[in-house]
Amino acid sequence: MFDLERLVRPNIKALKPYSSARKEYTGTEGIFLDANENPYGTLNRYPDPLQRDLKQQLATFKGVSEGTIFIGNGSDEVIDLALRIFCNPGTDKALTFSPSYGMYDVSSAINDVKLIKLPLNTEFQIDRQTVRLYLEDPTVKLIFVCSPNNPTGNCFRKTDIQFLLEHFKGIVIIDEAYADFSEEDSWVNRIGEFSNLVVSQTFSKAWGLAAARVGVAYTNSSILALFDKVKPPYNVSRLNQEAALAVLGNQKEYKRQIQQIKNEKEVLIKGLNELTLVNQIYPSDANFVLLNVNNAKKTYEYLIQHQIIVRNRTKLVKDCIRITVGTEEENRMLLKALRAIKSG
Ligand SMILES: *Cc1c(COP(=O)(O)O)cnc(C)c1O
Repeated sequence: MFDLERLVRPNIKALKPYSSARKEYTGTEGIFLDANENPYGTLNRYPDPLQRDLKQQLATFKGVSEGTIFIGNGSDEVIDLALRIFCNPGTDKALTFSPSYGMYDVSSAINDVKLIKLPLNTEFQIDRQTVRLYLEDPTVKLIFVCSPNNPTGNCFRKTDIQFLLEHFKGIVIIDEAYADFSEEDSWVNRIGEFSNLVVSQTFSKAWGLAAARVGVAYTNSSILALFDKVKPPYNVSRLNQEAALAVLGNQKEYKRQIQQIKNEKEVLIKGLNELTLVNQIYPSDANFVLLNVNNAKKTYEYLIQHQIIVRNRTKLVKDCIRITVGTEEENRMLLKALRAIKSG
């Protein structure tokens, strides 16, 4: 049986959360003398600690209830909060697959939580036989599942993710930072089915707001209450909330940009396929591609000299570089530079 109470750190269970002025009085009209703010200015008031307007718009857009949404200071905050809520430092563990997103490592290390990293198979899919050995371990509290996966670009098989959700007694965090670019169904639609499911998404990629730092987690009300309890009172600034509201107000542009990036990705892949220095391009459900080249380090450094910056991922996947899909012009410049390697 899934038992949320067992999973939560005792100090978090016992925690009396900070009660902010804006949480205690939620009205918008009146003379506000409760939060020691400066009465003058335009950014002088604390922001809505529960980001109600943003949640309302997002709920409508996603077709979910507002009561399933947590907003974070980037989705990196969601990762950190999950570790802090569920993993006792020094004793508990988290689990993920390798290669995957580097912040699971860093955030686990900061929280003194051991991260078990299980290698993906040659198709970059989850190996059920290996992960099965950890599902009953009571010290493993969290599994991070990045799908579409960074840096490989592929989605994990739906049946494998469902297997984890059904058999793991801890929390499964599905990181869908790149879901907007994928044809696969989002797990957001299934939070009602699994009491251990948290789905994180972000405004940093498809919505074009990496600078603003707005991340989202969708989960059931019991887990959501824990995130609300532990988060810093005003974790998302008003500027950030307004930036997210502004892009949500222009969904036509959001869709147009995604379509454009998908189209450009196809052109880019076609161009890369024609290069002799490229050995393999891995299938991508995201806005980037991972490719194996003759010499990742040399290719990376050559591109830097031409002021084109890609990610050298050779430490994660031998001789692989990760290329984000840029504008038509940027991709053309990249291909031009890569063609010159062959001839030069
Ligand atoms: C880019 C990325 C994020 C986004 O993090 P933010 O803090 O929301 O900017 C999350 N997860 C993965 C796997 C990413 O690649």
